[in-house]
Amino acid sequence: MHLKTLTLRGFKSFASATTLHFEPGVTCVVGPNGSGKSNVVDALAWVMGEQGAKSLRGGKMEDVIFAGTTTRPALGRAEVSLTIDNSDGALPIEYTEVTISRTLFRSGGSEYAINGQQARLLDVQELLSDSGLGREMHVIVGQGQLDAVLRATPEDRRGFIEEAAGVLKHRRRKEKAQRK
Ligand code: ATP
Ligand code: MG
Repeated sequence: MHLKTLTLRGFKSFASATTLHFEPGVTCVVGPNGSGKSNVVDALAWVMGEQGAKSLRGGKMEDVIFAGTTTRPALGRAEVSLTIDNSDGALPIEYTEVTISRTLFRSGGSEYAINGQQARLLDVQELLSDSGLGREMHVIVGQGQLDAVLRATPEDRRGFIEEAAGVLKHRRRKEKAQRK
């Protein structure tokens, strides 16, 4: 499984439709400060169902919609589509290519689609749940987070690793049980 394309339309600074093509392996996005690199990463998290405006570096969800510039008016909707190569069947769906789309309207409505069929957030979450992708899976390491790991105490660093490995929740449960 690998990401094939990501298309942004009216998402943050990407007013015009912009498609990024990814090959298997490592992709680097380079550009000057403020050029939209982190916005691309935000779009990835968002299309996979991110619900927290703060995780998307905004105050409210509407902030993901292109807010306009001096030369270009604000837009009424943000739309992101992510196409995943599923030829290895990693996603539990009978398609070798899966496109997840999310749209948010300034008027409030929000929509998801899987391969063009209207879907619920839950459907997107279930589709991604065992794939290692999606929300709370720690596949996205934000700007500044690496610094935090490097500066962390050995105990905190162990916490990061345990969290990534999925053992932290079990340790918390164990500690809770032992306190009783
Ligand atoms: P750095 O190298 O500093 O990390 P970056 O390439 O990651 O920069 P981003 O944070 O992705 O940059 O982009 C920030 C830019 O996106 C800012 O200019 C900001 O005004 C713009 N931006 C964010 N949200 C919106 C929006 N809703 N509408 C229009 N522009 C937006
Ligand atoms: Mg950035």
